[in-house]
Amino acid sequence: MADARFIIIGGGLAAARACEGIREVDPEGNILILTQEDHLPYQRPPLSKGYLAGRQNLDRVIVHDDAYYGERNIRVRTGVTAERISRRGRKVALNTGETFEYEELLLATGGRAWRLPLSGADLAGVFTLRTIEDADAIRAAARSGARAVVIGGSFIGCEVAATLAQRGVQVTMCFLEEYPLQAVAPPELGAHIARLFDAHGARLVAATRPERIEGEGHVRAVRLENGESVPCDLAVMGVGIRLNTQLARDADLDLTDFSAIVVDETLRTSDPHIWAAGDIAAWPDPHYGRRLRVEHWDVAYSQGRQAGRNMAGAGEAYTRIPYFFSDIFDLSFEVWGNLDDWDRTVARGSLEANSVSYWYFGGDVLVGVLALGRPDDERGAMEQLVGRGLTYDNAAEALADESTPLNDLL
Ligand SMILES: Cc1cc2nc3c(=O)[nH]c(=O)nc-3n(C[C@H](O)[C@H](O)[C@H](O)COP(=O)(O)OP(=O)(O)OC[C@H]3O[C@@H](n4cnc5c(N)ncnc54)[C@H](O)[C@@H]3O)c2cc1C
Repeated sequence: MADARFIIIGGGLAAARACEGIREVDPEGNILILTQEDHLPYQRPPLSKGYLAGRQNLDRVIVHDDAYYGERNIRVRTGVTAERISRRGRKVALNTGETFEYEELLLATGGRAWRLPLSGADLAGVFTLRTIEDADAIRAAARSGARAVVIGGSFIGCEVAATLAQRGVQVTMCFLEEYPLQAVAPPELGAHIARLFDAHGARLVAATRPERIEGEGHVRAVRLENGESVPCDLAVMGVGIRLNTQLARDADLDLTDFSAIVVDETLRTSDPHIWAAGDIAAWPDPHYGRRLRVEHWDVAYSQGRQAGRNMAGAGEAYTRIPYFFSDIFDLSFEVWGNLDDWDRTVARGSLEANSVSYWYFGGDVLVGVLALGRPDDERGAMEQLVGRGLTYDNAAEALADESTPLNDLL
C-alpha cells in the first residue's frame, strides 16, 4: 500500500486548496503535503500589502491552521524538499533521505523570485519578495524615513512601492516601461497611478533599467542606465519569477517551451497519476482556444481545488476565466480575462469618478476587462462577457454607453 493516497508537493495556495478539493470528493484517503517552507501552506498577496504594512498578521496569510489539517487526516511536512520523482514506482524522494509512495501526486511548486544578475545584487539590503521571510526582512529594513529603490513597475513593484511609501519610506521606483503597470493598464489608468505615487511622495523613474547596485557589504545606491545614482538604504527587486519545475523536468513530464508543466483540461500532466496546478500549470483554455499559464491568486485558488477534486476521481474540466485583483494605495481593481495580448481599450464610466471599467480588445476580439469601483451587478456580466468572442465592431459602442446594461450584451 502507498504511504499516502495523495501527495501534494508545495506550500502555497494551490496546495492548500487541493486538500479542500480532495476532501469534497474523498473524505478518507490520507493526504501528505510536502513543503520546503517552514510554514503551513500560505497565500502571498498580503506579503506586498497588509502584512508588509504591518496591518495584518500571519493568521491572515496562512490558509488553514493546524487543526484544519489534523481533523481531516492530512499530514503536513514543513521544511522538506522533494528532490526526485520516480514515476515507475510512484515515489517521491526527499532531501532528508526519506521516500514516500503515492497513488496520486500533485505538483504545486509555484515559482521563486528572480534576482537580476547585476553587480551588487547580492549586497545586504537588496531584497526580492516571495516568502514570509522576505516580507519580514523588507519590513525590518523599511523604517520610516529610510530610502528605498524599488526595481520593477509591474504588480509587485507597484504594490511594494505603495506600501513602503505609506510607511513613511522615501521611495524611488524605476522600471523599463513608460508608465506603471503598462502591460495591463491603459495609458489613462497608468497616468492616474503615477499621480497617486506622486501624491504620496514617491518618485518614479520610467523607461530605464538598473545598471548595477553600489555599496560595500550593504547597498548604498542603485545606478541607473540613464547615469543617475539613486542613494538608498534598501532596494527591492520586483522583476518576476522563475518556475519551480525542475522536478517535473527531471521526471520527464511534458513541459512547454517556457518551462511550465503541460496539463490537460482536467489538470493532469503527461503522467496519468501526476497533476499540476497554479503558477506552474499551462492548461488548454476553452475560451481563448490556446494554452494559458497565469501567475495569479485566483488560478492557484481555483485550480488547486479542481486538481484536488480530479485526483480523487471527479474528472471535471477546468474552465474558469482567469481573474485577478490588485491594491495600490486606495485603488483596488479586478481583472477578468487574459491581458497578455491587447492593443486597444474601451472605457465605460469615469476614472475621475473612481468608477470605470476598461474593455480590452486584442485584434478585434474582447480579451478582458478591468474594473475599478463599478456597481456590483456588473461584475457577474463582466466575467461572462469575456471569452464570448465579442468583437470591437459589434460591442464597443454598447460597452461605452452606461445606459446600456451589460446584461443586454449577454
Ligand atoms: C508578494 C506577492 C503578492 C501577490 N499579490 C497578488 C495579488 O494581489 N493578486 C493576485 O492575483 N496574485 C498575487 N500574487 C501571485 C500569487 O500569490 C501567486 O500566483 C500564487 O502564490 C501561486 O500559488 P502556487 O500555489 O501556484 O505557488 P506558490 O505560492 O509559489 O507556492 C509554491 C510552494 O511550493 C514550494 N516548493 C517548491 N518546490 C518545492 C519542492 N521541490 N519541495 C517542496 N516544496 C516546494 C515553495 O516553497 C512554495 O511554498 C502575489 C505574489 C506575491 C509573491
